[in-house]
Amino acid sequence: MNEITVLDREFSVYITEDEIQSRITALAEKINEDMNGKDVLFFGVLNGVFLFAADIFRQINFECQVSFIKLASYDGSSSTGKIKELIGWNEDITDKTVVVLEDIVDTGTTLERVIAELKLRKAADIKICTLLFKPEAYTKDIPIDYIGFEIPNNFVVGYGLDYYGYGRNLRAIYKLTK
Ligand code: 5GP
Repeated sequence: MNEITVLDREFSVYITEDEIQSRITALAEKINEDMNGKDVLFFGVLNGVFLFAADIFRQINFECQVSFIKLASYDGSSSTGKIKELIGWNEDITDKTVVVLEDIVDTGTTLERVIAELKLRKAADIKICTLLFKPEAYTKDIPIDYIGFEIPNNFVVGYGLDYYGYGRNLRAIYKLTK
C-alpha cells in the first residue's frame, strides 16, 4: 500500500512500519541506558502519540510510570497556532524525571506549553522524546533529547497521526503528495 487516500487527499508511504519499529527499539535502548535507576514518569501528549507511546513503553525495561495529557494546536492540515486547554494532570511530579513523549514536534508550541507546565509543577528533570521532528518548522530553543526521524516540512499521517481525525490506524507514516 504505497499510495493511499485519506478523505480528499492523496498520500504516499514515507516511513514504513519496519523502519518505525526498528527506530523505536533503538530509542528505547538509549532511554533504558540513560534513565535506569531514576524515578521516571513518561508523559504522552495525546491524541497522536497513543501508538508510539504503547510501542516504546513496552520496550522500557526499568520500573517506571506512564500517564497522558491532552491538548491540541492543530486544526486539519495547517497549524493554527492556537493552544487548547491542557487536560489530564493528575500526578504529583515533584522531583521526578519526566520523559515527554510526542508523536511529532512541528513549531514546538505544544512542547513549550507542556514544558512550562512541568516546570511549574517542579519536575526534577525533563527529557523530550519525539518520534518525528520537523527542524524547518521548529521555532523554539528547547533541546529535544530523543528524535526518531527528522522530516521535512510536509504534512504526514498514519501511526497515530491524523488528517481531520482519520488515518491514525495506518501502520506506516504517509506524506501528502498533492
Ligand atoms: P506544534 O505545537 O509543534 O506546532 O504541533 C504539534 C502538533 O501538531 C502535533 O502534536 C500534531 O498533533 C500536529 N502536527 C504537526 N505536524 C503534523 C503533521 O505533519 N501531521 C499531523 N497529522 N499532525 C501534525
